[in-house]
This record gives sequence, structure tokens and C-alpha cells, in this order.
Amino acid sequence: MDRILEDIKSYARNFNVPIMQDPGMDFLTNYIKEHDVKRILEIGSAIGYSAIRMALVRDDIKVTTIERDITRYNEAVKNINNCNLSDRIEIILGDALDTSINGSYDLIFIDAAKAQYIKFFLKYQNNLDINGSIISDNLNFHGLTDANMTTLSRNVRGLVRKINNYKEFLIENKDFKTEFYDIGDGIGVSTRYN
Ligand code: SAH
Ligand code: MG
Repeated sequence: MDRILEDIKSYARNFNVPIMQDPGMDFLTNYIKEHDVKRILEIGSAIGYSAIRMALVRDDIKVTTIERDITRYNEAVKNINNCNLSDRIEIILGDALDTSINGSYDLIFIDAAKAQYIKFFLKYQNNLDINGSIISDNLNFHGLTDANMTTLSRNVRGLVRKINNYKEFLIENKDFKTEFYDIGDGIGVSTRYN
């Protein structure tokens, strides 16, 4: 298994696929262990790396994951099969904003297009169990959130602003309490108030 995971990581490096790095991945897998998470919904599978790592935490964990890029989706399907996890990881090809998911999950992991995070959150909070949480990745946007905005390209400035808006949205959200962690690219853990 370690060999397969190393191959997936090197594919990600070679083809610039932004998979989760070790510190963030360790945080996520520990969270899953500590909270006895069993059903996970992931927005943004890329090539299946984080879905596989999450499924490997325990063999009673099931993951549903959504990816809109056909090349990455195909690569993910191949990787999931190689890990013999196709019975526990369901991957859906499509835009997560147009996908309808009926199941309920105790963890939702948002790791997709930064500009859409509020929309993902609002849509998928309906699939969250009462005691579940939503974890969001890349909230520090590669360290750029506090950077001097004028040195950034217009496009990047727009994304930094959207990530900051999302953080504001989380802070002000009365239904959830969010803790921010300076791990990896910046992680937020939002748990529902009861
Ligand atoms: N979670 C993965 C990395 C995901 S990278 C890992 O750590 O292994 C982000 C992925 O989200 C990209 O592959 C991108 O194609 C996908 N994505 C972005 N916006 C999306 C959307 N609206 N619906 C589905 N997938 C999306
Ligand atoms: Mg990420």
C-alpha cells in the first residue's frame, strides 16, 4: 500500500495536482480517528489521494467523493481500484454544485474551487449529521491571505478575497463554531451548535 501511495504522490508532483500534504493529511486522519468518523463526503477528489488516505484509517469508513475534471477522475478511479477500495470509496464525476447527494455524513471535507466554498458549505450542510463537522482546506491560500495584495495578480487577489469572505462567513455563522488551524495550507473545522 505504501508503494501505491508513493506512486500517487509522485504523479501529483509530476502533473501539478494539488493533493493534501503530509501535515494536513495527518491532521485529517487523526480527526477521523478521534471522532470515530464513519461516513465522509469529500468535495474535490483530484486523483483520489485524500479519499484513499481517509478510507485507510479504518475499514468501516465509507467515502463519497466528487470530482469534475475527467482526467483526474479517471486517474482517481484507477488509484482507488489499485488500493482495492472501490467498495468503500464512491467517486462521482461532476460539478459538486450540480450534484445531488442524498446520504448523510459525519464529516464533509471541502477541498475544491476556492471561489465556491460558501456555496459548497450552504449546499452540503444539509447532508451533515447533527453532530458532524465540515472541514475546509486551503484557508491560508498558500500563505497569501495576509500578503501585500498589490503585489498579486488580479486573479489571485480575487481568490484571496473570496477565501477571506469564506472565513468571515464561518466566523459569523450562527449554526456552526469554527476553529482555524495553521496546519498545511490552513484548515477550518466547523462543528454545528446543537
Ligand atoms: N482532495 C484532493 C485534492 C483536491 S484538489 C487530495 O488532497 O488528494 C481540488 C480538486 O477539486 C481539483 O481536482 C478540481 O478539479 C476539483 N474541483 C474544483 N471545483 C470543483 C467542483 N465545483 N466540483 C467538483 N470538483 C471540483
Ligand atoms: Mg487542498
